[in-house]
Amino acid sequence: MSCIFCEIAAGERPADRVYEDDRAVAFRDINPMAPVHILVIPREHIPGPQAIDGANADVAGHLIAVSTRIARDLGIAADGYRLVLNEGRQGGQSVYHMHLHLLGGRPMGWPPG
Ligand code: 5GP
Ligand code: ZN
Repeated sequence: MSCIFCEIAAGERPADRVYEDDRAVAFRDINPMAPVHILVIPREHIPGPQAIDGANADVAGHLIAVSTRIARDLGIAADGYRLVLNEGRQGGQSVYHMHLHLLGGRPMGWPPG
């Protein structure tokens, strides 16, 4: 089964990368919803947040730590930003390789749509 985010992580599909390490890759969303819209993904194929359990919960923590670093590097940390994990159809998930959205550069509304 092919996965576009596995392809991006492997360097087989182009992406505007802003960060990578041995466990995670971060790149700009192709259809940005804010001035800063970054996707932070694990290199490992994890379908979504529902697949996070006791054994791999450190992956989720690492994605947040990476987003913290990127927010600081891109200058949005002081003003604040939003982190989003979509799960499943009603959650608005369209790519079934887990990704943390980092959205910033404008005020965010609440409740979300
Ligand atoms: P979801 O709706 O699953 O939470 O978010 C998937 C996100 O991936 C969407 O915001 C969409 O714009 C983005 N996306 C889908 N395909 C690609 C791609 O090939 N490259 C990049 N950079 N982003 C993508
Ligand atoms: Zn994948």
